[in-house]
Parts: sequence; structure tokens; C-alpha cells
Amino acid sequence: MRCILANEKYTGDVIFQKTYTDDSFNRHINDGFLDQYFMPNHHEAIVSHEDFDAVAALISQRATEKGIKRGSKKCQQRYAFSGKIICGECGNTFRRRIHTSKYGKYVAWCCNTHLNDTRKCPMLFLRDDDLKIAFTTVLNKLIYSHKLVLKPYVAALKNNSGDESLVRIQHLERLLEQNTEQRETLTKLMAQGYIDQVLYNSETNALLAQANNYRADIDVINATMTGDSSKVFEAERLLHFAERGSLLDEYNEELFERFVDHIHVYSRQEVGFVMKCGLTFKEMI
Ligand SMILES: [Zn+2]
Repeated sequence: MRCILANEKYTGDVIFQKTYTDDSFNRHINDGFLDQYFMPNHHEAIVSHEDFDAVAALISQRATEKGIKRGSKKCQQRYAFSGKIICGECGNTFRRRIHTSKYGKYVAWCCNTHLNDTRKCPMLFLRDDDLKIAFTTVLNKLIYSHKLVLKPYVAALKNNSGDESLVRIQHLERLLEQNTEQRETLTKLMAQGYIDQVLYNSETNALLAQANNYRADIDVINATMTGDSSKVFEAERLLHFAERGSLLDEYNEELFERFVDHIHVYSRQEVGFVMKCGLTFKEMI
């Protein structure tokens, strides 16, 4: 029996691939533009290696048992990974395939570009069961370490989310008020005969166009803020799961669909689970 976590040092390392905000108040995903936020070895005291290995053996055993049962109802199976595995080399999605080896058949996921032309993408296939084990490991690490990983993240999201956006919206609203006052002044000036209809029309139209731009900017910022609050929602959801959760001894597809946006394949040895809450958890295969 393959010991799932035997080659997997339980370090509890987590990378926060946080978003950042540029000088123009635009929020970006941090693709390495800023230093990533590492939390190495933060919680190694929480669970001993012995405990973790014991659990790993249990997980492995259950996974094997489930694997046998699952094979019989293969036809009913949906594939949660479909369209959600992204190649780190070429950006294409992975396709599900059945591979045959001398030890038997197994499910694998392969980059579509690589399948069509191996010269265009060197990425090799990943085993379905390895991905499922990696995801289960990520969730189990989170269950152990949520106080150190998720709690500060939720707090940071709540503190930061919308603060800068709010200031910017307030600024735009002040500009909109000034714009309205300027138009009222123009109306008065024309009523009192200081300016003619032609000047009044052109100035008013310019001010109205400007007001529309301000409103459009406010809409954009509001949309960004909605994105942030959904991140807060997703992070809290994951935190609540991790707080309540007891250790998982098998892959759970429903949890994958609930929490994961997609899987980023860095290499055949390392994948990143990009969570809906905005965090990415790297895991060795
Ligand atoms: Zn590829």
C-alpha cells in the first residue's frame, strides 16, 4: 500500500498569494510582483509527525477502500476537476484520460496542449488520485492551522477591504456635488443674462459628461468592493469549515467544489490550490 504522506514533510508552510493595490487604487492578484507572504513552520508543534503519519496511513487505507467501491459506479461520476486544472507552462486546461500501465489502469489529467503537440508544452500528466490526496492534505493542514492561517487572513480582509475604495468613492462623490453646483451656477448665470444659450449648452454638456465619468468610476469601484466582500464571505466559510472540521480521511468532491476555484499546476511535483477566498495553497505531489 502506498503511504500517501510518507514523502510529504508536514511543515505547514503556507503561501499567501495576497492581492495588492496599486497607486491608482486598482487591486491586482499578486503574481510575484510583490513578495509573497510566507508562513513557514508556523504550526509544527500543533501536530506531531507521528500523529500525522498515523493519520496518513489511515487516509491511505480508506482511500484504497473507497477506490474499489467507487470503480463500480464509475458511470455516475462527475468530474469536479474538469476545466479547473490549469497548466503552469502554457495556461491551457487539463483533460481526463485513462492510462494503462503494467500495474493496471488509472485516471490521469493531461495538458490539452501537450496532448496535441508535445513540442508546444512539456507538462506531463498528473494522476487523479495524487491530486485528490493533495487536496485532502491541504484541507487537513487548514483544519490544524486555521487559527494561524485563516483567522489572520479573514481579519486582514475585513480591515483592508473597501477602506481605500471608500475614500476614493467619497472623493468622487464630492466631485459630483461640485459638478451639480457648477451646473446650477450656469443656470443662474444664464437666467440673469450673463452668458448666452450657446455657452450655457456647451458648458452644461461638458459638465454632464464629466458627471457620467465620475458615476462610471464609482460603479467600477463598487464592483471591486463586491469582489472583496465575496472574498471575505469565502474566507469566513473556509474558516468556519476548518474550525468545525475534524480530520478528513478521504477526498471529498463537494468540499473541492465549495472551496477551490482552480488548480494551478506548477510542475509535475507541485500544484497550487487556488481557493475562492483568494489564498493559494501549494502542495507537493
Ligand atoms: Zn500545458
